Parts: sequence; C-alpha cells; structure tokens
Amino acid sequence: MSFLDSQFQHLVPYVPGEQTRTKVIKLNTNENPYDPPQNVIEAAKEAAKTLSRYSDPTCLQVIQPLAKHFNVAPENIFLGNGSDEVLFFLFQGFMEKGVQFPDITYGFYEVYSDLFHLKTEIISLKEDLSIDLAEYTGEATVIIANPNAPTGLMIAPEVICTFAKNNPQRLIIVDEAYSDFSEASLVPYLEAHPNILVVGTFSKSRHLAGARLGYAVGSKQLIEDLNKLKFSHNPYSVNAMTLACGEASLQAQDYVDECTQKIIATRNWTQQELQKLGFETTNSQTNFVFCQHPTVAGETIFKQLKEKNILVRWFNNPRIANYLRISIGTPEEMATLIQAIKEIEGVDI
Ligand SMILES: *Cc1c(COP(=O)(O)O)cnc(C)c1O
Repeated sequence: MSFLDSQFQHLVPYVPGEQTRTKVIKLNTNENPYDPPQNVIEAAKEAAKTLSRYSDPTCLQVIQPLAKHFNVAPENIFLGNGSDEVLFFLFQGFMEKGVQFPDITYGFYEVYSDLFHLKTEIISLKEDLSIDLAEYTGEATVIIANPNAPTGLMIAPEVICTFAKNNPQRLIIVDEAYSDFSEASLVPYLEAHPNILVVGTFSKSRHLAGARLGYAVGSKQLIEDLNKLKFSHNPYSVNAMTLACGEASLQAQDYVDECTQKIIATRNWTQQELQKLGFETTNSQTNFVFCQHPTVAGETIFKQLKEKNILVRWFNNPRIANYLRISIGTPEEMATLIQAIKEIEGVDI
C-alpha cells in the first residue's frame, strides 16, 4: 500500500545515467574526465573542519567571484544545489502561464512540469534536430538548453535575444550547462534583456558534478524572486564543503580552461574518427557527441560497448532511438572507445 498522495502517484521520475564504482570507461553522464584541481581538494578538506556549523546562506564566497567571472553584480547571481535545484525553483514558481520546451531535450524539464502540474507544450525539434523559436508562440515561459542536450546543437545568442525582445512579457530560460564547451554564452546580453535568465552548473566544465553546485544569472528582480523560494525551502541547500569547492574552482580558472580546451579537442577528434567509420554526428558544441550509424542500431552498439565495460547513453525514445550520446573522456579513453566500436560487427564499412 502506498501512502503517497494521489497527485504524485503518476510521476515518472528522471532516470539518471548509471553510476558505478567498478572499473569501466564511463562516458554516459557528461562528467568531466579530469580530476578537480588540487586547490579544490585542499579547500574541501579545510571546509570539512567547519562542518559543525551551518553553511553561509548568503553564499557570497562563491557569488562574489562568480559575479566577477561573469562581469555582473552579485545581486545578479543565485546559487542552488546543482542546477537541477535551480530548475526546480523555476518550474515551481515561474510558470503559471505554462511552459514550452522541445521534445528532445534535458529530461528533467518534463519531470518537473509533471511534478508541478504545469500547462505544458512540448514542441518538436525540426527534422535536422534544431530548435525553431518561431514555433514558440503564446505567453508561456520558454526553457531551452543551449547548447541543447542530447543533440549538442546550439542557437546563436542573437537569435534568442531577438526572440526575447519580441516577447517582453515572457520569461525565457536558457540552460547553459554546456556553454563553456561552445563559442558563446547569453550572459553578456542579460543587461539588455531582463526577461532572459541563464542557468548554469559547476558539474560539467568545472569538475564538480558530485559537489552539486548550480547557478542562475539574471536581473536583480529574478534573483530576488528565486531567493524568495529558496529561503522558503532550505536556505542551506548549498553546503559548506560545496561552497569552498566552488570558490576554489573559480581560483583555478587556468586549469579549468586548460581542461575545457582538451575536451573540445578530444571531442573534435572523436567526431572525425566516428565519421570515418560511417557515423553521422551532429555539430556538437558540448562535452559529448551525438551520433548514429547508418546500418548498426544505436541500441546494439550501446549493449555491445557495455559488454566491453564502456558505458555510453542510449535513449529509449523513438525519435532518437538510433542515436548514441557519448560523453568525452580522456584521449586514451576515446581511443579505446573507437577501437571497441571498430570491433562491433558491421560498423566499419
Ligand atoms: C547536466 C545538466 C544539468 C544538471 O546539472 P546539475 O548542476 O548537475 O544539476 C542541467 N541541465 C542540463 C541541460 C544538463 O545537461
């Protein structure tokens, strides 16, 4: 017998990629393949000594340097327990006129819109898997991931700005989980477009998936409103060790940038190698590739790689059922992946 309220009985929760402690090549959840910088590890150790106290609810030790990094004021930054928590507050409190997002995108958008019983309009990507904002009519809040996941494709900031300008009464949320691996961010355009909110994370380019640190950048009003929800929920959702790690990560910008450049180079190499094997790949602007083979099914490749202890992501969704999303690992891991794919019957044609 379930004691869960009937309004939640129907929920289909988000299915995270598999986490494992066994020795595998893990290319299934878009984590950073490189360890956090040494100063982050030291900062976590130091912060552990303070754990008898509550964490600082102002989060200024991260907000101030992050504001500096983005060239905005601290009042323009909100921090949450992973960007998933930031998204949770956005779906909870900013979507009473409904929400629109693409059919192929980050799975949590649909989970949260269900959780909060939102009026939801799911809009199909175009045939080439791109997003056409002209189809996002009406007054609902719009949320897109840019670059989008799992397609890896991005819309130019100017296109989003024009859309925001033409829809001044609507909130446009841009999830930039992968923007550090792309050529552009919306952050420099926020002052001119107060109805755009950028959401970001320390999980991908900043090596801190396990620490859970996400943020929003936007107008003072939007940030104040987000804090209203956070302080009605859990003012300490970002814990003291995570705050220390986030601060240290911003002090290690050179290391972060160096790893990002390596990942971009490895992504481009991986795409070329896959293309040599006949794969079609999207023009990914992220730390993963999205690809399909003309004759061997995505599910087959996924399963055979798993037998070889290489985890990639396959989505059981008819529209992208033939695709694989492969996170970028180290050059050695990706060479092993390519070799393993070559050994799958029918791939190397
Ligand atoms: C990974 C990811 C997130 C979640 O990031 P966390 O900060 O780890 O919660 C959000 N949006 C997109 C598009 C992602 O790929």
